[in-house]
Amino acid sequence: MELIVAKFGGTSIGNGNRIKKAAQSVVDEYMKGNKVVVVVSAINKTTDELLHIVDDAMEEAVTEKQLAEIVSMGEMTSVRIFSSAIEALGVKSEYVDPFMDNWPIVTDSNLLNAKVDFKDTEEKSQELIKMLDQGIIPVVCGFLGRDNQGYITTLGRGGSDITAFLLGHCLNADNVIIVTDVSGVMSTDPNKLQDAQKLDKISVEEMRDLATHGAQVLHPHALKYKDPKINAKIIGFENGDLSSPGTEIIGPSKDEMLKTTSLIGEHISVLAVVGEEILNKSGILAELTDILAENKINIFGISTGQNSVTLFINKKDADEAHRILHDVVVKNDNLSSLSLGTEIAMISIASPDFIDTPGIISDITEPLRENNLNIVEISSSQTSVVIFVECKDGKKAYELVRSVLE
Ligand code: ADP
Ligand code: ASP
Ligand code: MG
Repeated sequence: MELIVAKFGGTSIGNGNRIKKAAQSVVDEYMKGNKVVVVVSAINKTTDELLHIVDDAMEEAVTEKQLAEIVSMGEMTSVRIFSSAIEALGVKSEYVDPFMDNWPIVTDSNLLNAKVDFKDTEEKSQELIKMLDQGIIPVVCGFLGRDNQGYITTLGRGGSDITAFLLGHCLNADNVIIVTDVSGVMSTDPNKLQDAQKLDKISVEEMRDLATHGAQVLHPHALKYKDPKINAKIIGFENGDLSSPGTEIIGPSKDEMLKTTSLIGEHISVLAVVGEEILNKSGILAELTDILAENKINIFGISTGQNSVTLFINKKDADEAHRILHDVVVKNDNLSSLSLGTEIAMISIASPDFIDTPGIISDITEPLRENNLNIVEISSSQTSVVIFVECKDGKKAYELVRSVLE
């Protein structure tokens, strides 16, 4: 017997037939002896429609409290329909919404983009276990939360995925299954390129980077709650079968768990290649990076300017890279010269928590400013920040950043 959290996205419950099929797929698992907690989104594009109507009716005049209450109606409706559909198949089911005492998802009071209070949620979600033990299938509103004043909150667009993984974690589930309108995670958005191929599996780390760069198929914050021991997959709704293979989400790896925040200090050399207006000439970057790749020289970072390309390379490879790139510069008419510049220190910090930690860059850079340490270059993605400082400042900067993270 397994505990399954199954989340149904808007399209997968987009009409009566689909709801019937989805409810049947849940009941099939129940009949096999499994326990199922259902999480549902709003039907189809209900959330978009409600937001449009509000916008047309009053534009900015709507308050956050009003808006959270209005959009919550999407999920308030779908839980009621879904749980009735399960009962119509002869199995006991109850919906769970934020007005109820047994509501599990507790958040802060950032009403439209609320952050989960993990401890309270973990405690409250045990109510769902009681329902399961009585043979009831709970159907929980995705996307919604409640703050400790009792106000309805939302977890941000696409937030039902967070609800599913969060409950999976809190309930110690064996499986989290995301049911959506595509057959799994694909090689790219299948609505943009038709020849996209389905992947059998993807790591948590890859999935998170894909999601933070816009792949809507899973909310990037959802994976914060993905335990290595939980089986997770994304499947299409078409088969009406929760045991469809879809795409398995693997991990996170032990490594990633250990260094949720990792800090690497490296000595880096800066190589600048110049040429007139090279930003507007094609193939320059490829030429520089291909030859370094052929010589197995790793590039830590690249920045481009109107008349230059700057490459950040491990200090030990710098002389060799200098020689190799010089040959390219001499042969290529678009390039005029290169310089092996100062050595710098690179401090690279990575953590999945950065995604929802506002102001992380200023938190990290402020102590450097206070200590008069100059930042030569900074680059960031949603889960990492890379800072380049002068070599002499490397050690101190490293310590300062470390103390911020602690
Ligand atoms: P749901 O309503 O079920 O949560 P979403 O619309 O939020 O569904 O997410 C599914 C959509 O994600 C797909 O219809 C697809 O257009 C989009 N998508 C973007 N990138 C990918 C990808 N790499 N693989 C699969 N789907 C993707
Ligand atoms: N219904 C919400 C939205 O459209 C949440 C979700 O679908 O995950 O954003
Ligand atoms: Mg979604």
